[in-house]
Amino acid sequence: MRQTLPLGSMAGVPVRAHWSALGIAALIVVLLGTTVLPRAVPGYGQAQYWLVAAITGTLFMASLLIHEAAHALIARRRGLRVGSVTLWVLGGYTEMEEEAKSPRVELATAAAGPLASLGIAAVTLLAYVFLPRPALAASAAGWLSTMNLLLGLFNLLPGAPLDGGRVLHALLWWRFGDAARADRAAARAGQMLGTTLISVGLASTFLWNWLSGLWLAFLGWYIAMSARQELTVKIARAGLRGLRVAEVMTPVPDLAPAWMNVEKLIEGVVLHSRQTVFPVVTLTGAAVGSVSLDTLAAVPPQRRGSTRVEALTTTQRPVRTLAPDDEAALLLEQPAQGQLIAVVVDDRRLVGMVTDADLRRALGQSLLRTGADVTT
Ligand SMILES: [Zn+2]
Repeated sequence: MRQTLPLGSMAGVPVRAHWSALGIAALIVVLLGTTVLPRAVPGYGQAQYWLVAAITGTLFMASLLIHEAAHALIARRRGLRVGSVTLWVLGGYTEMEEEAKSPRVELATAAAGPLASLGIAAVTLLAYVFLPRPALAASAAGWLSTMNLLLGLFNLLPGAPLDGGRVLHALLWWRFGDAARADRAAARAGQMLGTTLISVGLASTFLWNWLSGLWLAFLGWYIAMSARQELTVKIARAGLRGLRVAEVMTPVPDLAPAWMNVEKLIEGVVLHSRQTVFPVVTLTGAAVGSVSLDTLAAVPPQRRGSTRVEALTTTQRPVRTLAPDDEAALLLEQPAQGQLIAVVVDDRRLVGMVTDADLRRALGQSLLRTGADVTT
């Protein structure tokens, strides 16, 4: 996730906030300061409402962090590598660099977050009960308690990618003894949950409160989409397991020299090639990007002689370079930009390339080999 603000680190795990989390924090403070607190405990000055709203908003964001920290800490204690914790528009997100190796580890890691939220709900409930009233502080504690209760319960809903979906996955994995079967069942549950939330959200948009209705529908859409996406990635990872990049790549591809003009490239290379995309290389042989048939077709014929190939190469980041012996699963780690996924370099020579068509073929073949059932 880009556009994030570093907040520091918790137990060695970097913590960041996406700009959308700052927007949500501001929205919460405004709602508390102008509506929630003045309605719950009237009679204070506006400055006092704002002060308590700001503190409560900050504590709420902190409670989101505690939820994520619980996931991250338990995962690390069970020997899993944790990438980072990010706060964003839908709360927090803990990026795991590897998957749990047993149902027990997955269960503990997934349940830790909601349990932390429910714990915070209990503590703030005590504060609400015992603080003197009618006080602003007690009311703020009550609000924090309610929000954390909702957060804990919502996250326990049984559908991937929510924590409850992971709990469900762990239980099914333990019961079936088959992680792939549990993947499909948890993804199906996630899609059903997402669809249900969308329907409830849309109904409530018209019947009750449009803002929370739309919010619920958006959450539902996100859950359904992520459940589907996660399953696709898991199936792809399983399909590429054990394969090397050399087994997936197009060997010795035709290249597009950066210094050549488009006319020469078309006549000398493209028209005699079976490729639809060509790695662009410099004089030293380094790959700097790619050109596709579509890019070349966009150059008007009268300008082909005066346009160099390098002028057509647009790269947002350097071309991915892998070695023939690298694991093919590495190809899934970054989303492809355009058709060329990676070039394969051995001893500084470009020995192959992997296109999205190569990757799709490899996945299709592996499904045929294993006869896996991928219906979702
Ligand atoms: Zn969580």
